[in-house]
Amino acid sequence: MVDHTTVLIAGAGPAGLVLGNLLRAAGIGTLIVERASREQAQTRARAGFLGPNSARILVRHGLGAGMLHKGRSHGVCAFRGEDGEFELDYAALGQGEVHTVYPQQDLVTDLIAEYLDRGGEIRFGATVTGVDSGTATIRYRDEQGEGVVTGQFLAGCDGSNGVTRQAVPADLGSRYTQDHGVSWLAVLAEAPQSMAAVTYAIHDDGFAGHMARSPEVTRYYLQVPPGDDPEAWTDERIWAALDTRMRTDEFGQLKQGPIIERRIVRLRSEVVDPIQHNRLFLVGDAASLISPSAAKGANLAIMEAEVLASALISALHRDDERPLAAYSRTCLPRVWRAQEFSRWMIDLLHTQDDDFHRALRRARLHSLRDCRAHQNFFAEHYVGI
Ligand SMILES: Cc1cc2nc3c(=O)[nH]c(=O)nc-3n(C[C@H](O)[C@H](O)[C@H](O)COP(=O)(O)OP(=O)(O)OC[C@H]3O[C@@H](n4cnc5c(N)ncnc54)[C@H](O)[C@@H]3O)c2cc1C
Repeated sequence: MVDHTTVLIAGAGPAGLVLGNLLRAAGIGTLIVERASREQAQTRARAGFLGPNSARILVRHGLGAGMLHKGRSHGVCAFRGEDGEFELDYAALGQGEVHTVYPQQDLVTDLIAEYLDRGGEIRFGATVTGVDSGTATIRYRDEQGEGVVTGQFLAGCDGSNGVTRQAVPADLGSRYTQDHGVSWLAVLAEAPQSMAAVTYAIHDDGFAGHMARSPEVTRYYLQVPPGDDPEAWTDERIWAALDTRMRTDEFGQLKQGPIIERRIVRLRSEVVDPIQHNRLFLVGDAASLISPSAAKGANLAIMEAEVLASALISALHRDDERPLAAYSRTCLPRVWRAQEFSRWMIDLLHTQDDDFHRALRRARLHSLRDCRAHQNFFAEHYVGI
């Protein structure tokens, strides 16, 4: 068992695993401490849409084989509302930039296998209970009891509910938190996708979304009152609400199947600034939580993991810590642009209580349908980081 290594990583999600793989490829010692079992980590369904920058990073570092083999290109999305439906060919508008649809659990499975092949170690079933950013120390608890591991550097990749972000003193900078006042029932249906494109349906009952995941499984979202109980949403109730909001009478029936997962996702944003302290660097959701309305979270995690890996390699191989010192300054502007677009999407998609905001939302949708400059704005931000 390693109890000292060069870079200690808390969390084996996309952020920790991309970082670990890049460091192992550069011959740097790493240890990942992960709360979940390997089985749990590899079956947790969340993201599915990878932007072109994420796909390029994965391919550039030899991590894209599964995605290239099984992922599907996606370059058109559709909006449905009271005035009908229109499609936006964002790939054509954005000079060919597309999403790759590849379920996060498949990506995590690939990244774990590759990381272990590269000689990395993961301690599954070990919960980080505290970190010291000055000495790059992780304290953890697993079946055997309490343990301590130390490193030269520490990467906090333990998501938005992890413990590493608490080691950045709040009075050092700013903590931004925003509850967008909207909740989604996120469901996975064991059914093929019903439409070729991602479809956003805007309805007075609330938003509904349709997103491809794999040939057998489709993700749907339904806007629900904050605090709603997911178990109150039976399969029948979910399909009935989707029928109404997706206006299936007008646009065609959905391909139904059993609902295999239902959970409430509260649309929230959190940004830690700075995202570093002493020897600790935060990556992915640990640094900034973003609502899934624009599918940016995993993409930010992958981008930041590459930036941090490059900075750590520079520090460890070339004795140059300037890129590490600039880590927050490099990443945070991109985080905020993603947050801004994600908020823009929330305003576009959701039912407001008052008529004035409803009318504004409708006007924005008309503009997106008719105005080329608005479409270009959408295309660039939708696929970009
Ligand atoms: C319904 C839904 C749909 C989404 N769709 C998209 C999408 O299409 N595109 C997109 O880009 N993003 C999407 N996202 C966001 C994306 O899933 C996250 O941003 C992404 O998982 C962040 O990766 P991460 O590695 O930073 O964190 P995580 O994936 O949360 O990984 C953190 C890891 O740390 C571990 N951990 C936590 N606490 C501890 C601890 N104390 N000790 C040890 N280990 C710990 C966890 O078990 C986990 O394995 C979606 C999110 C949701 C909820």
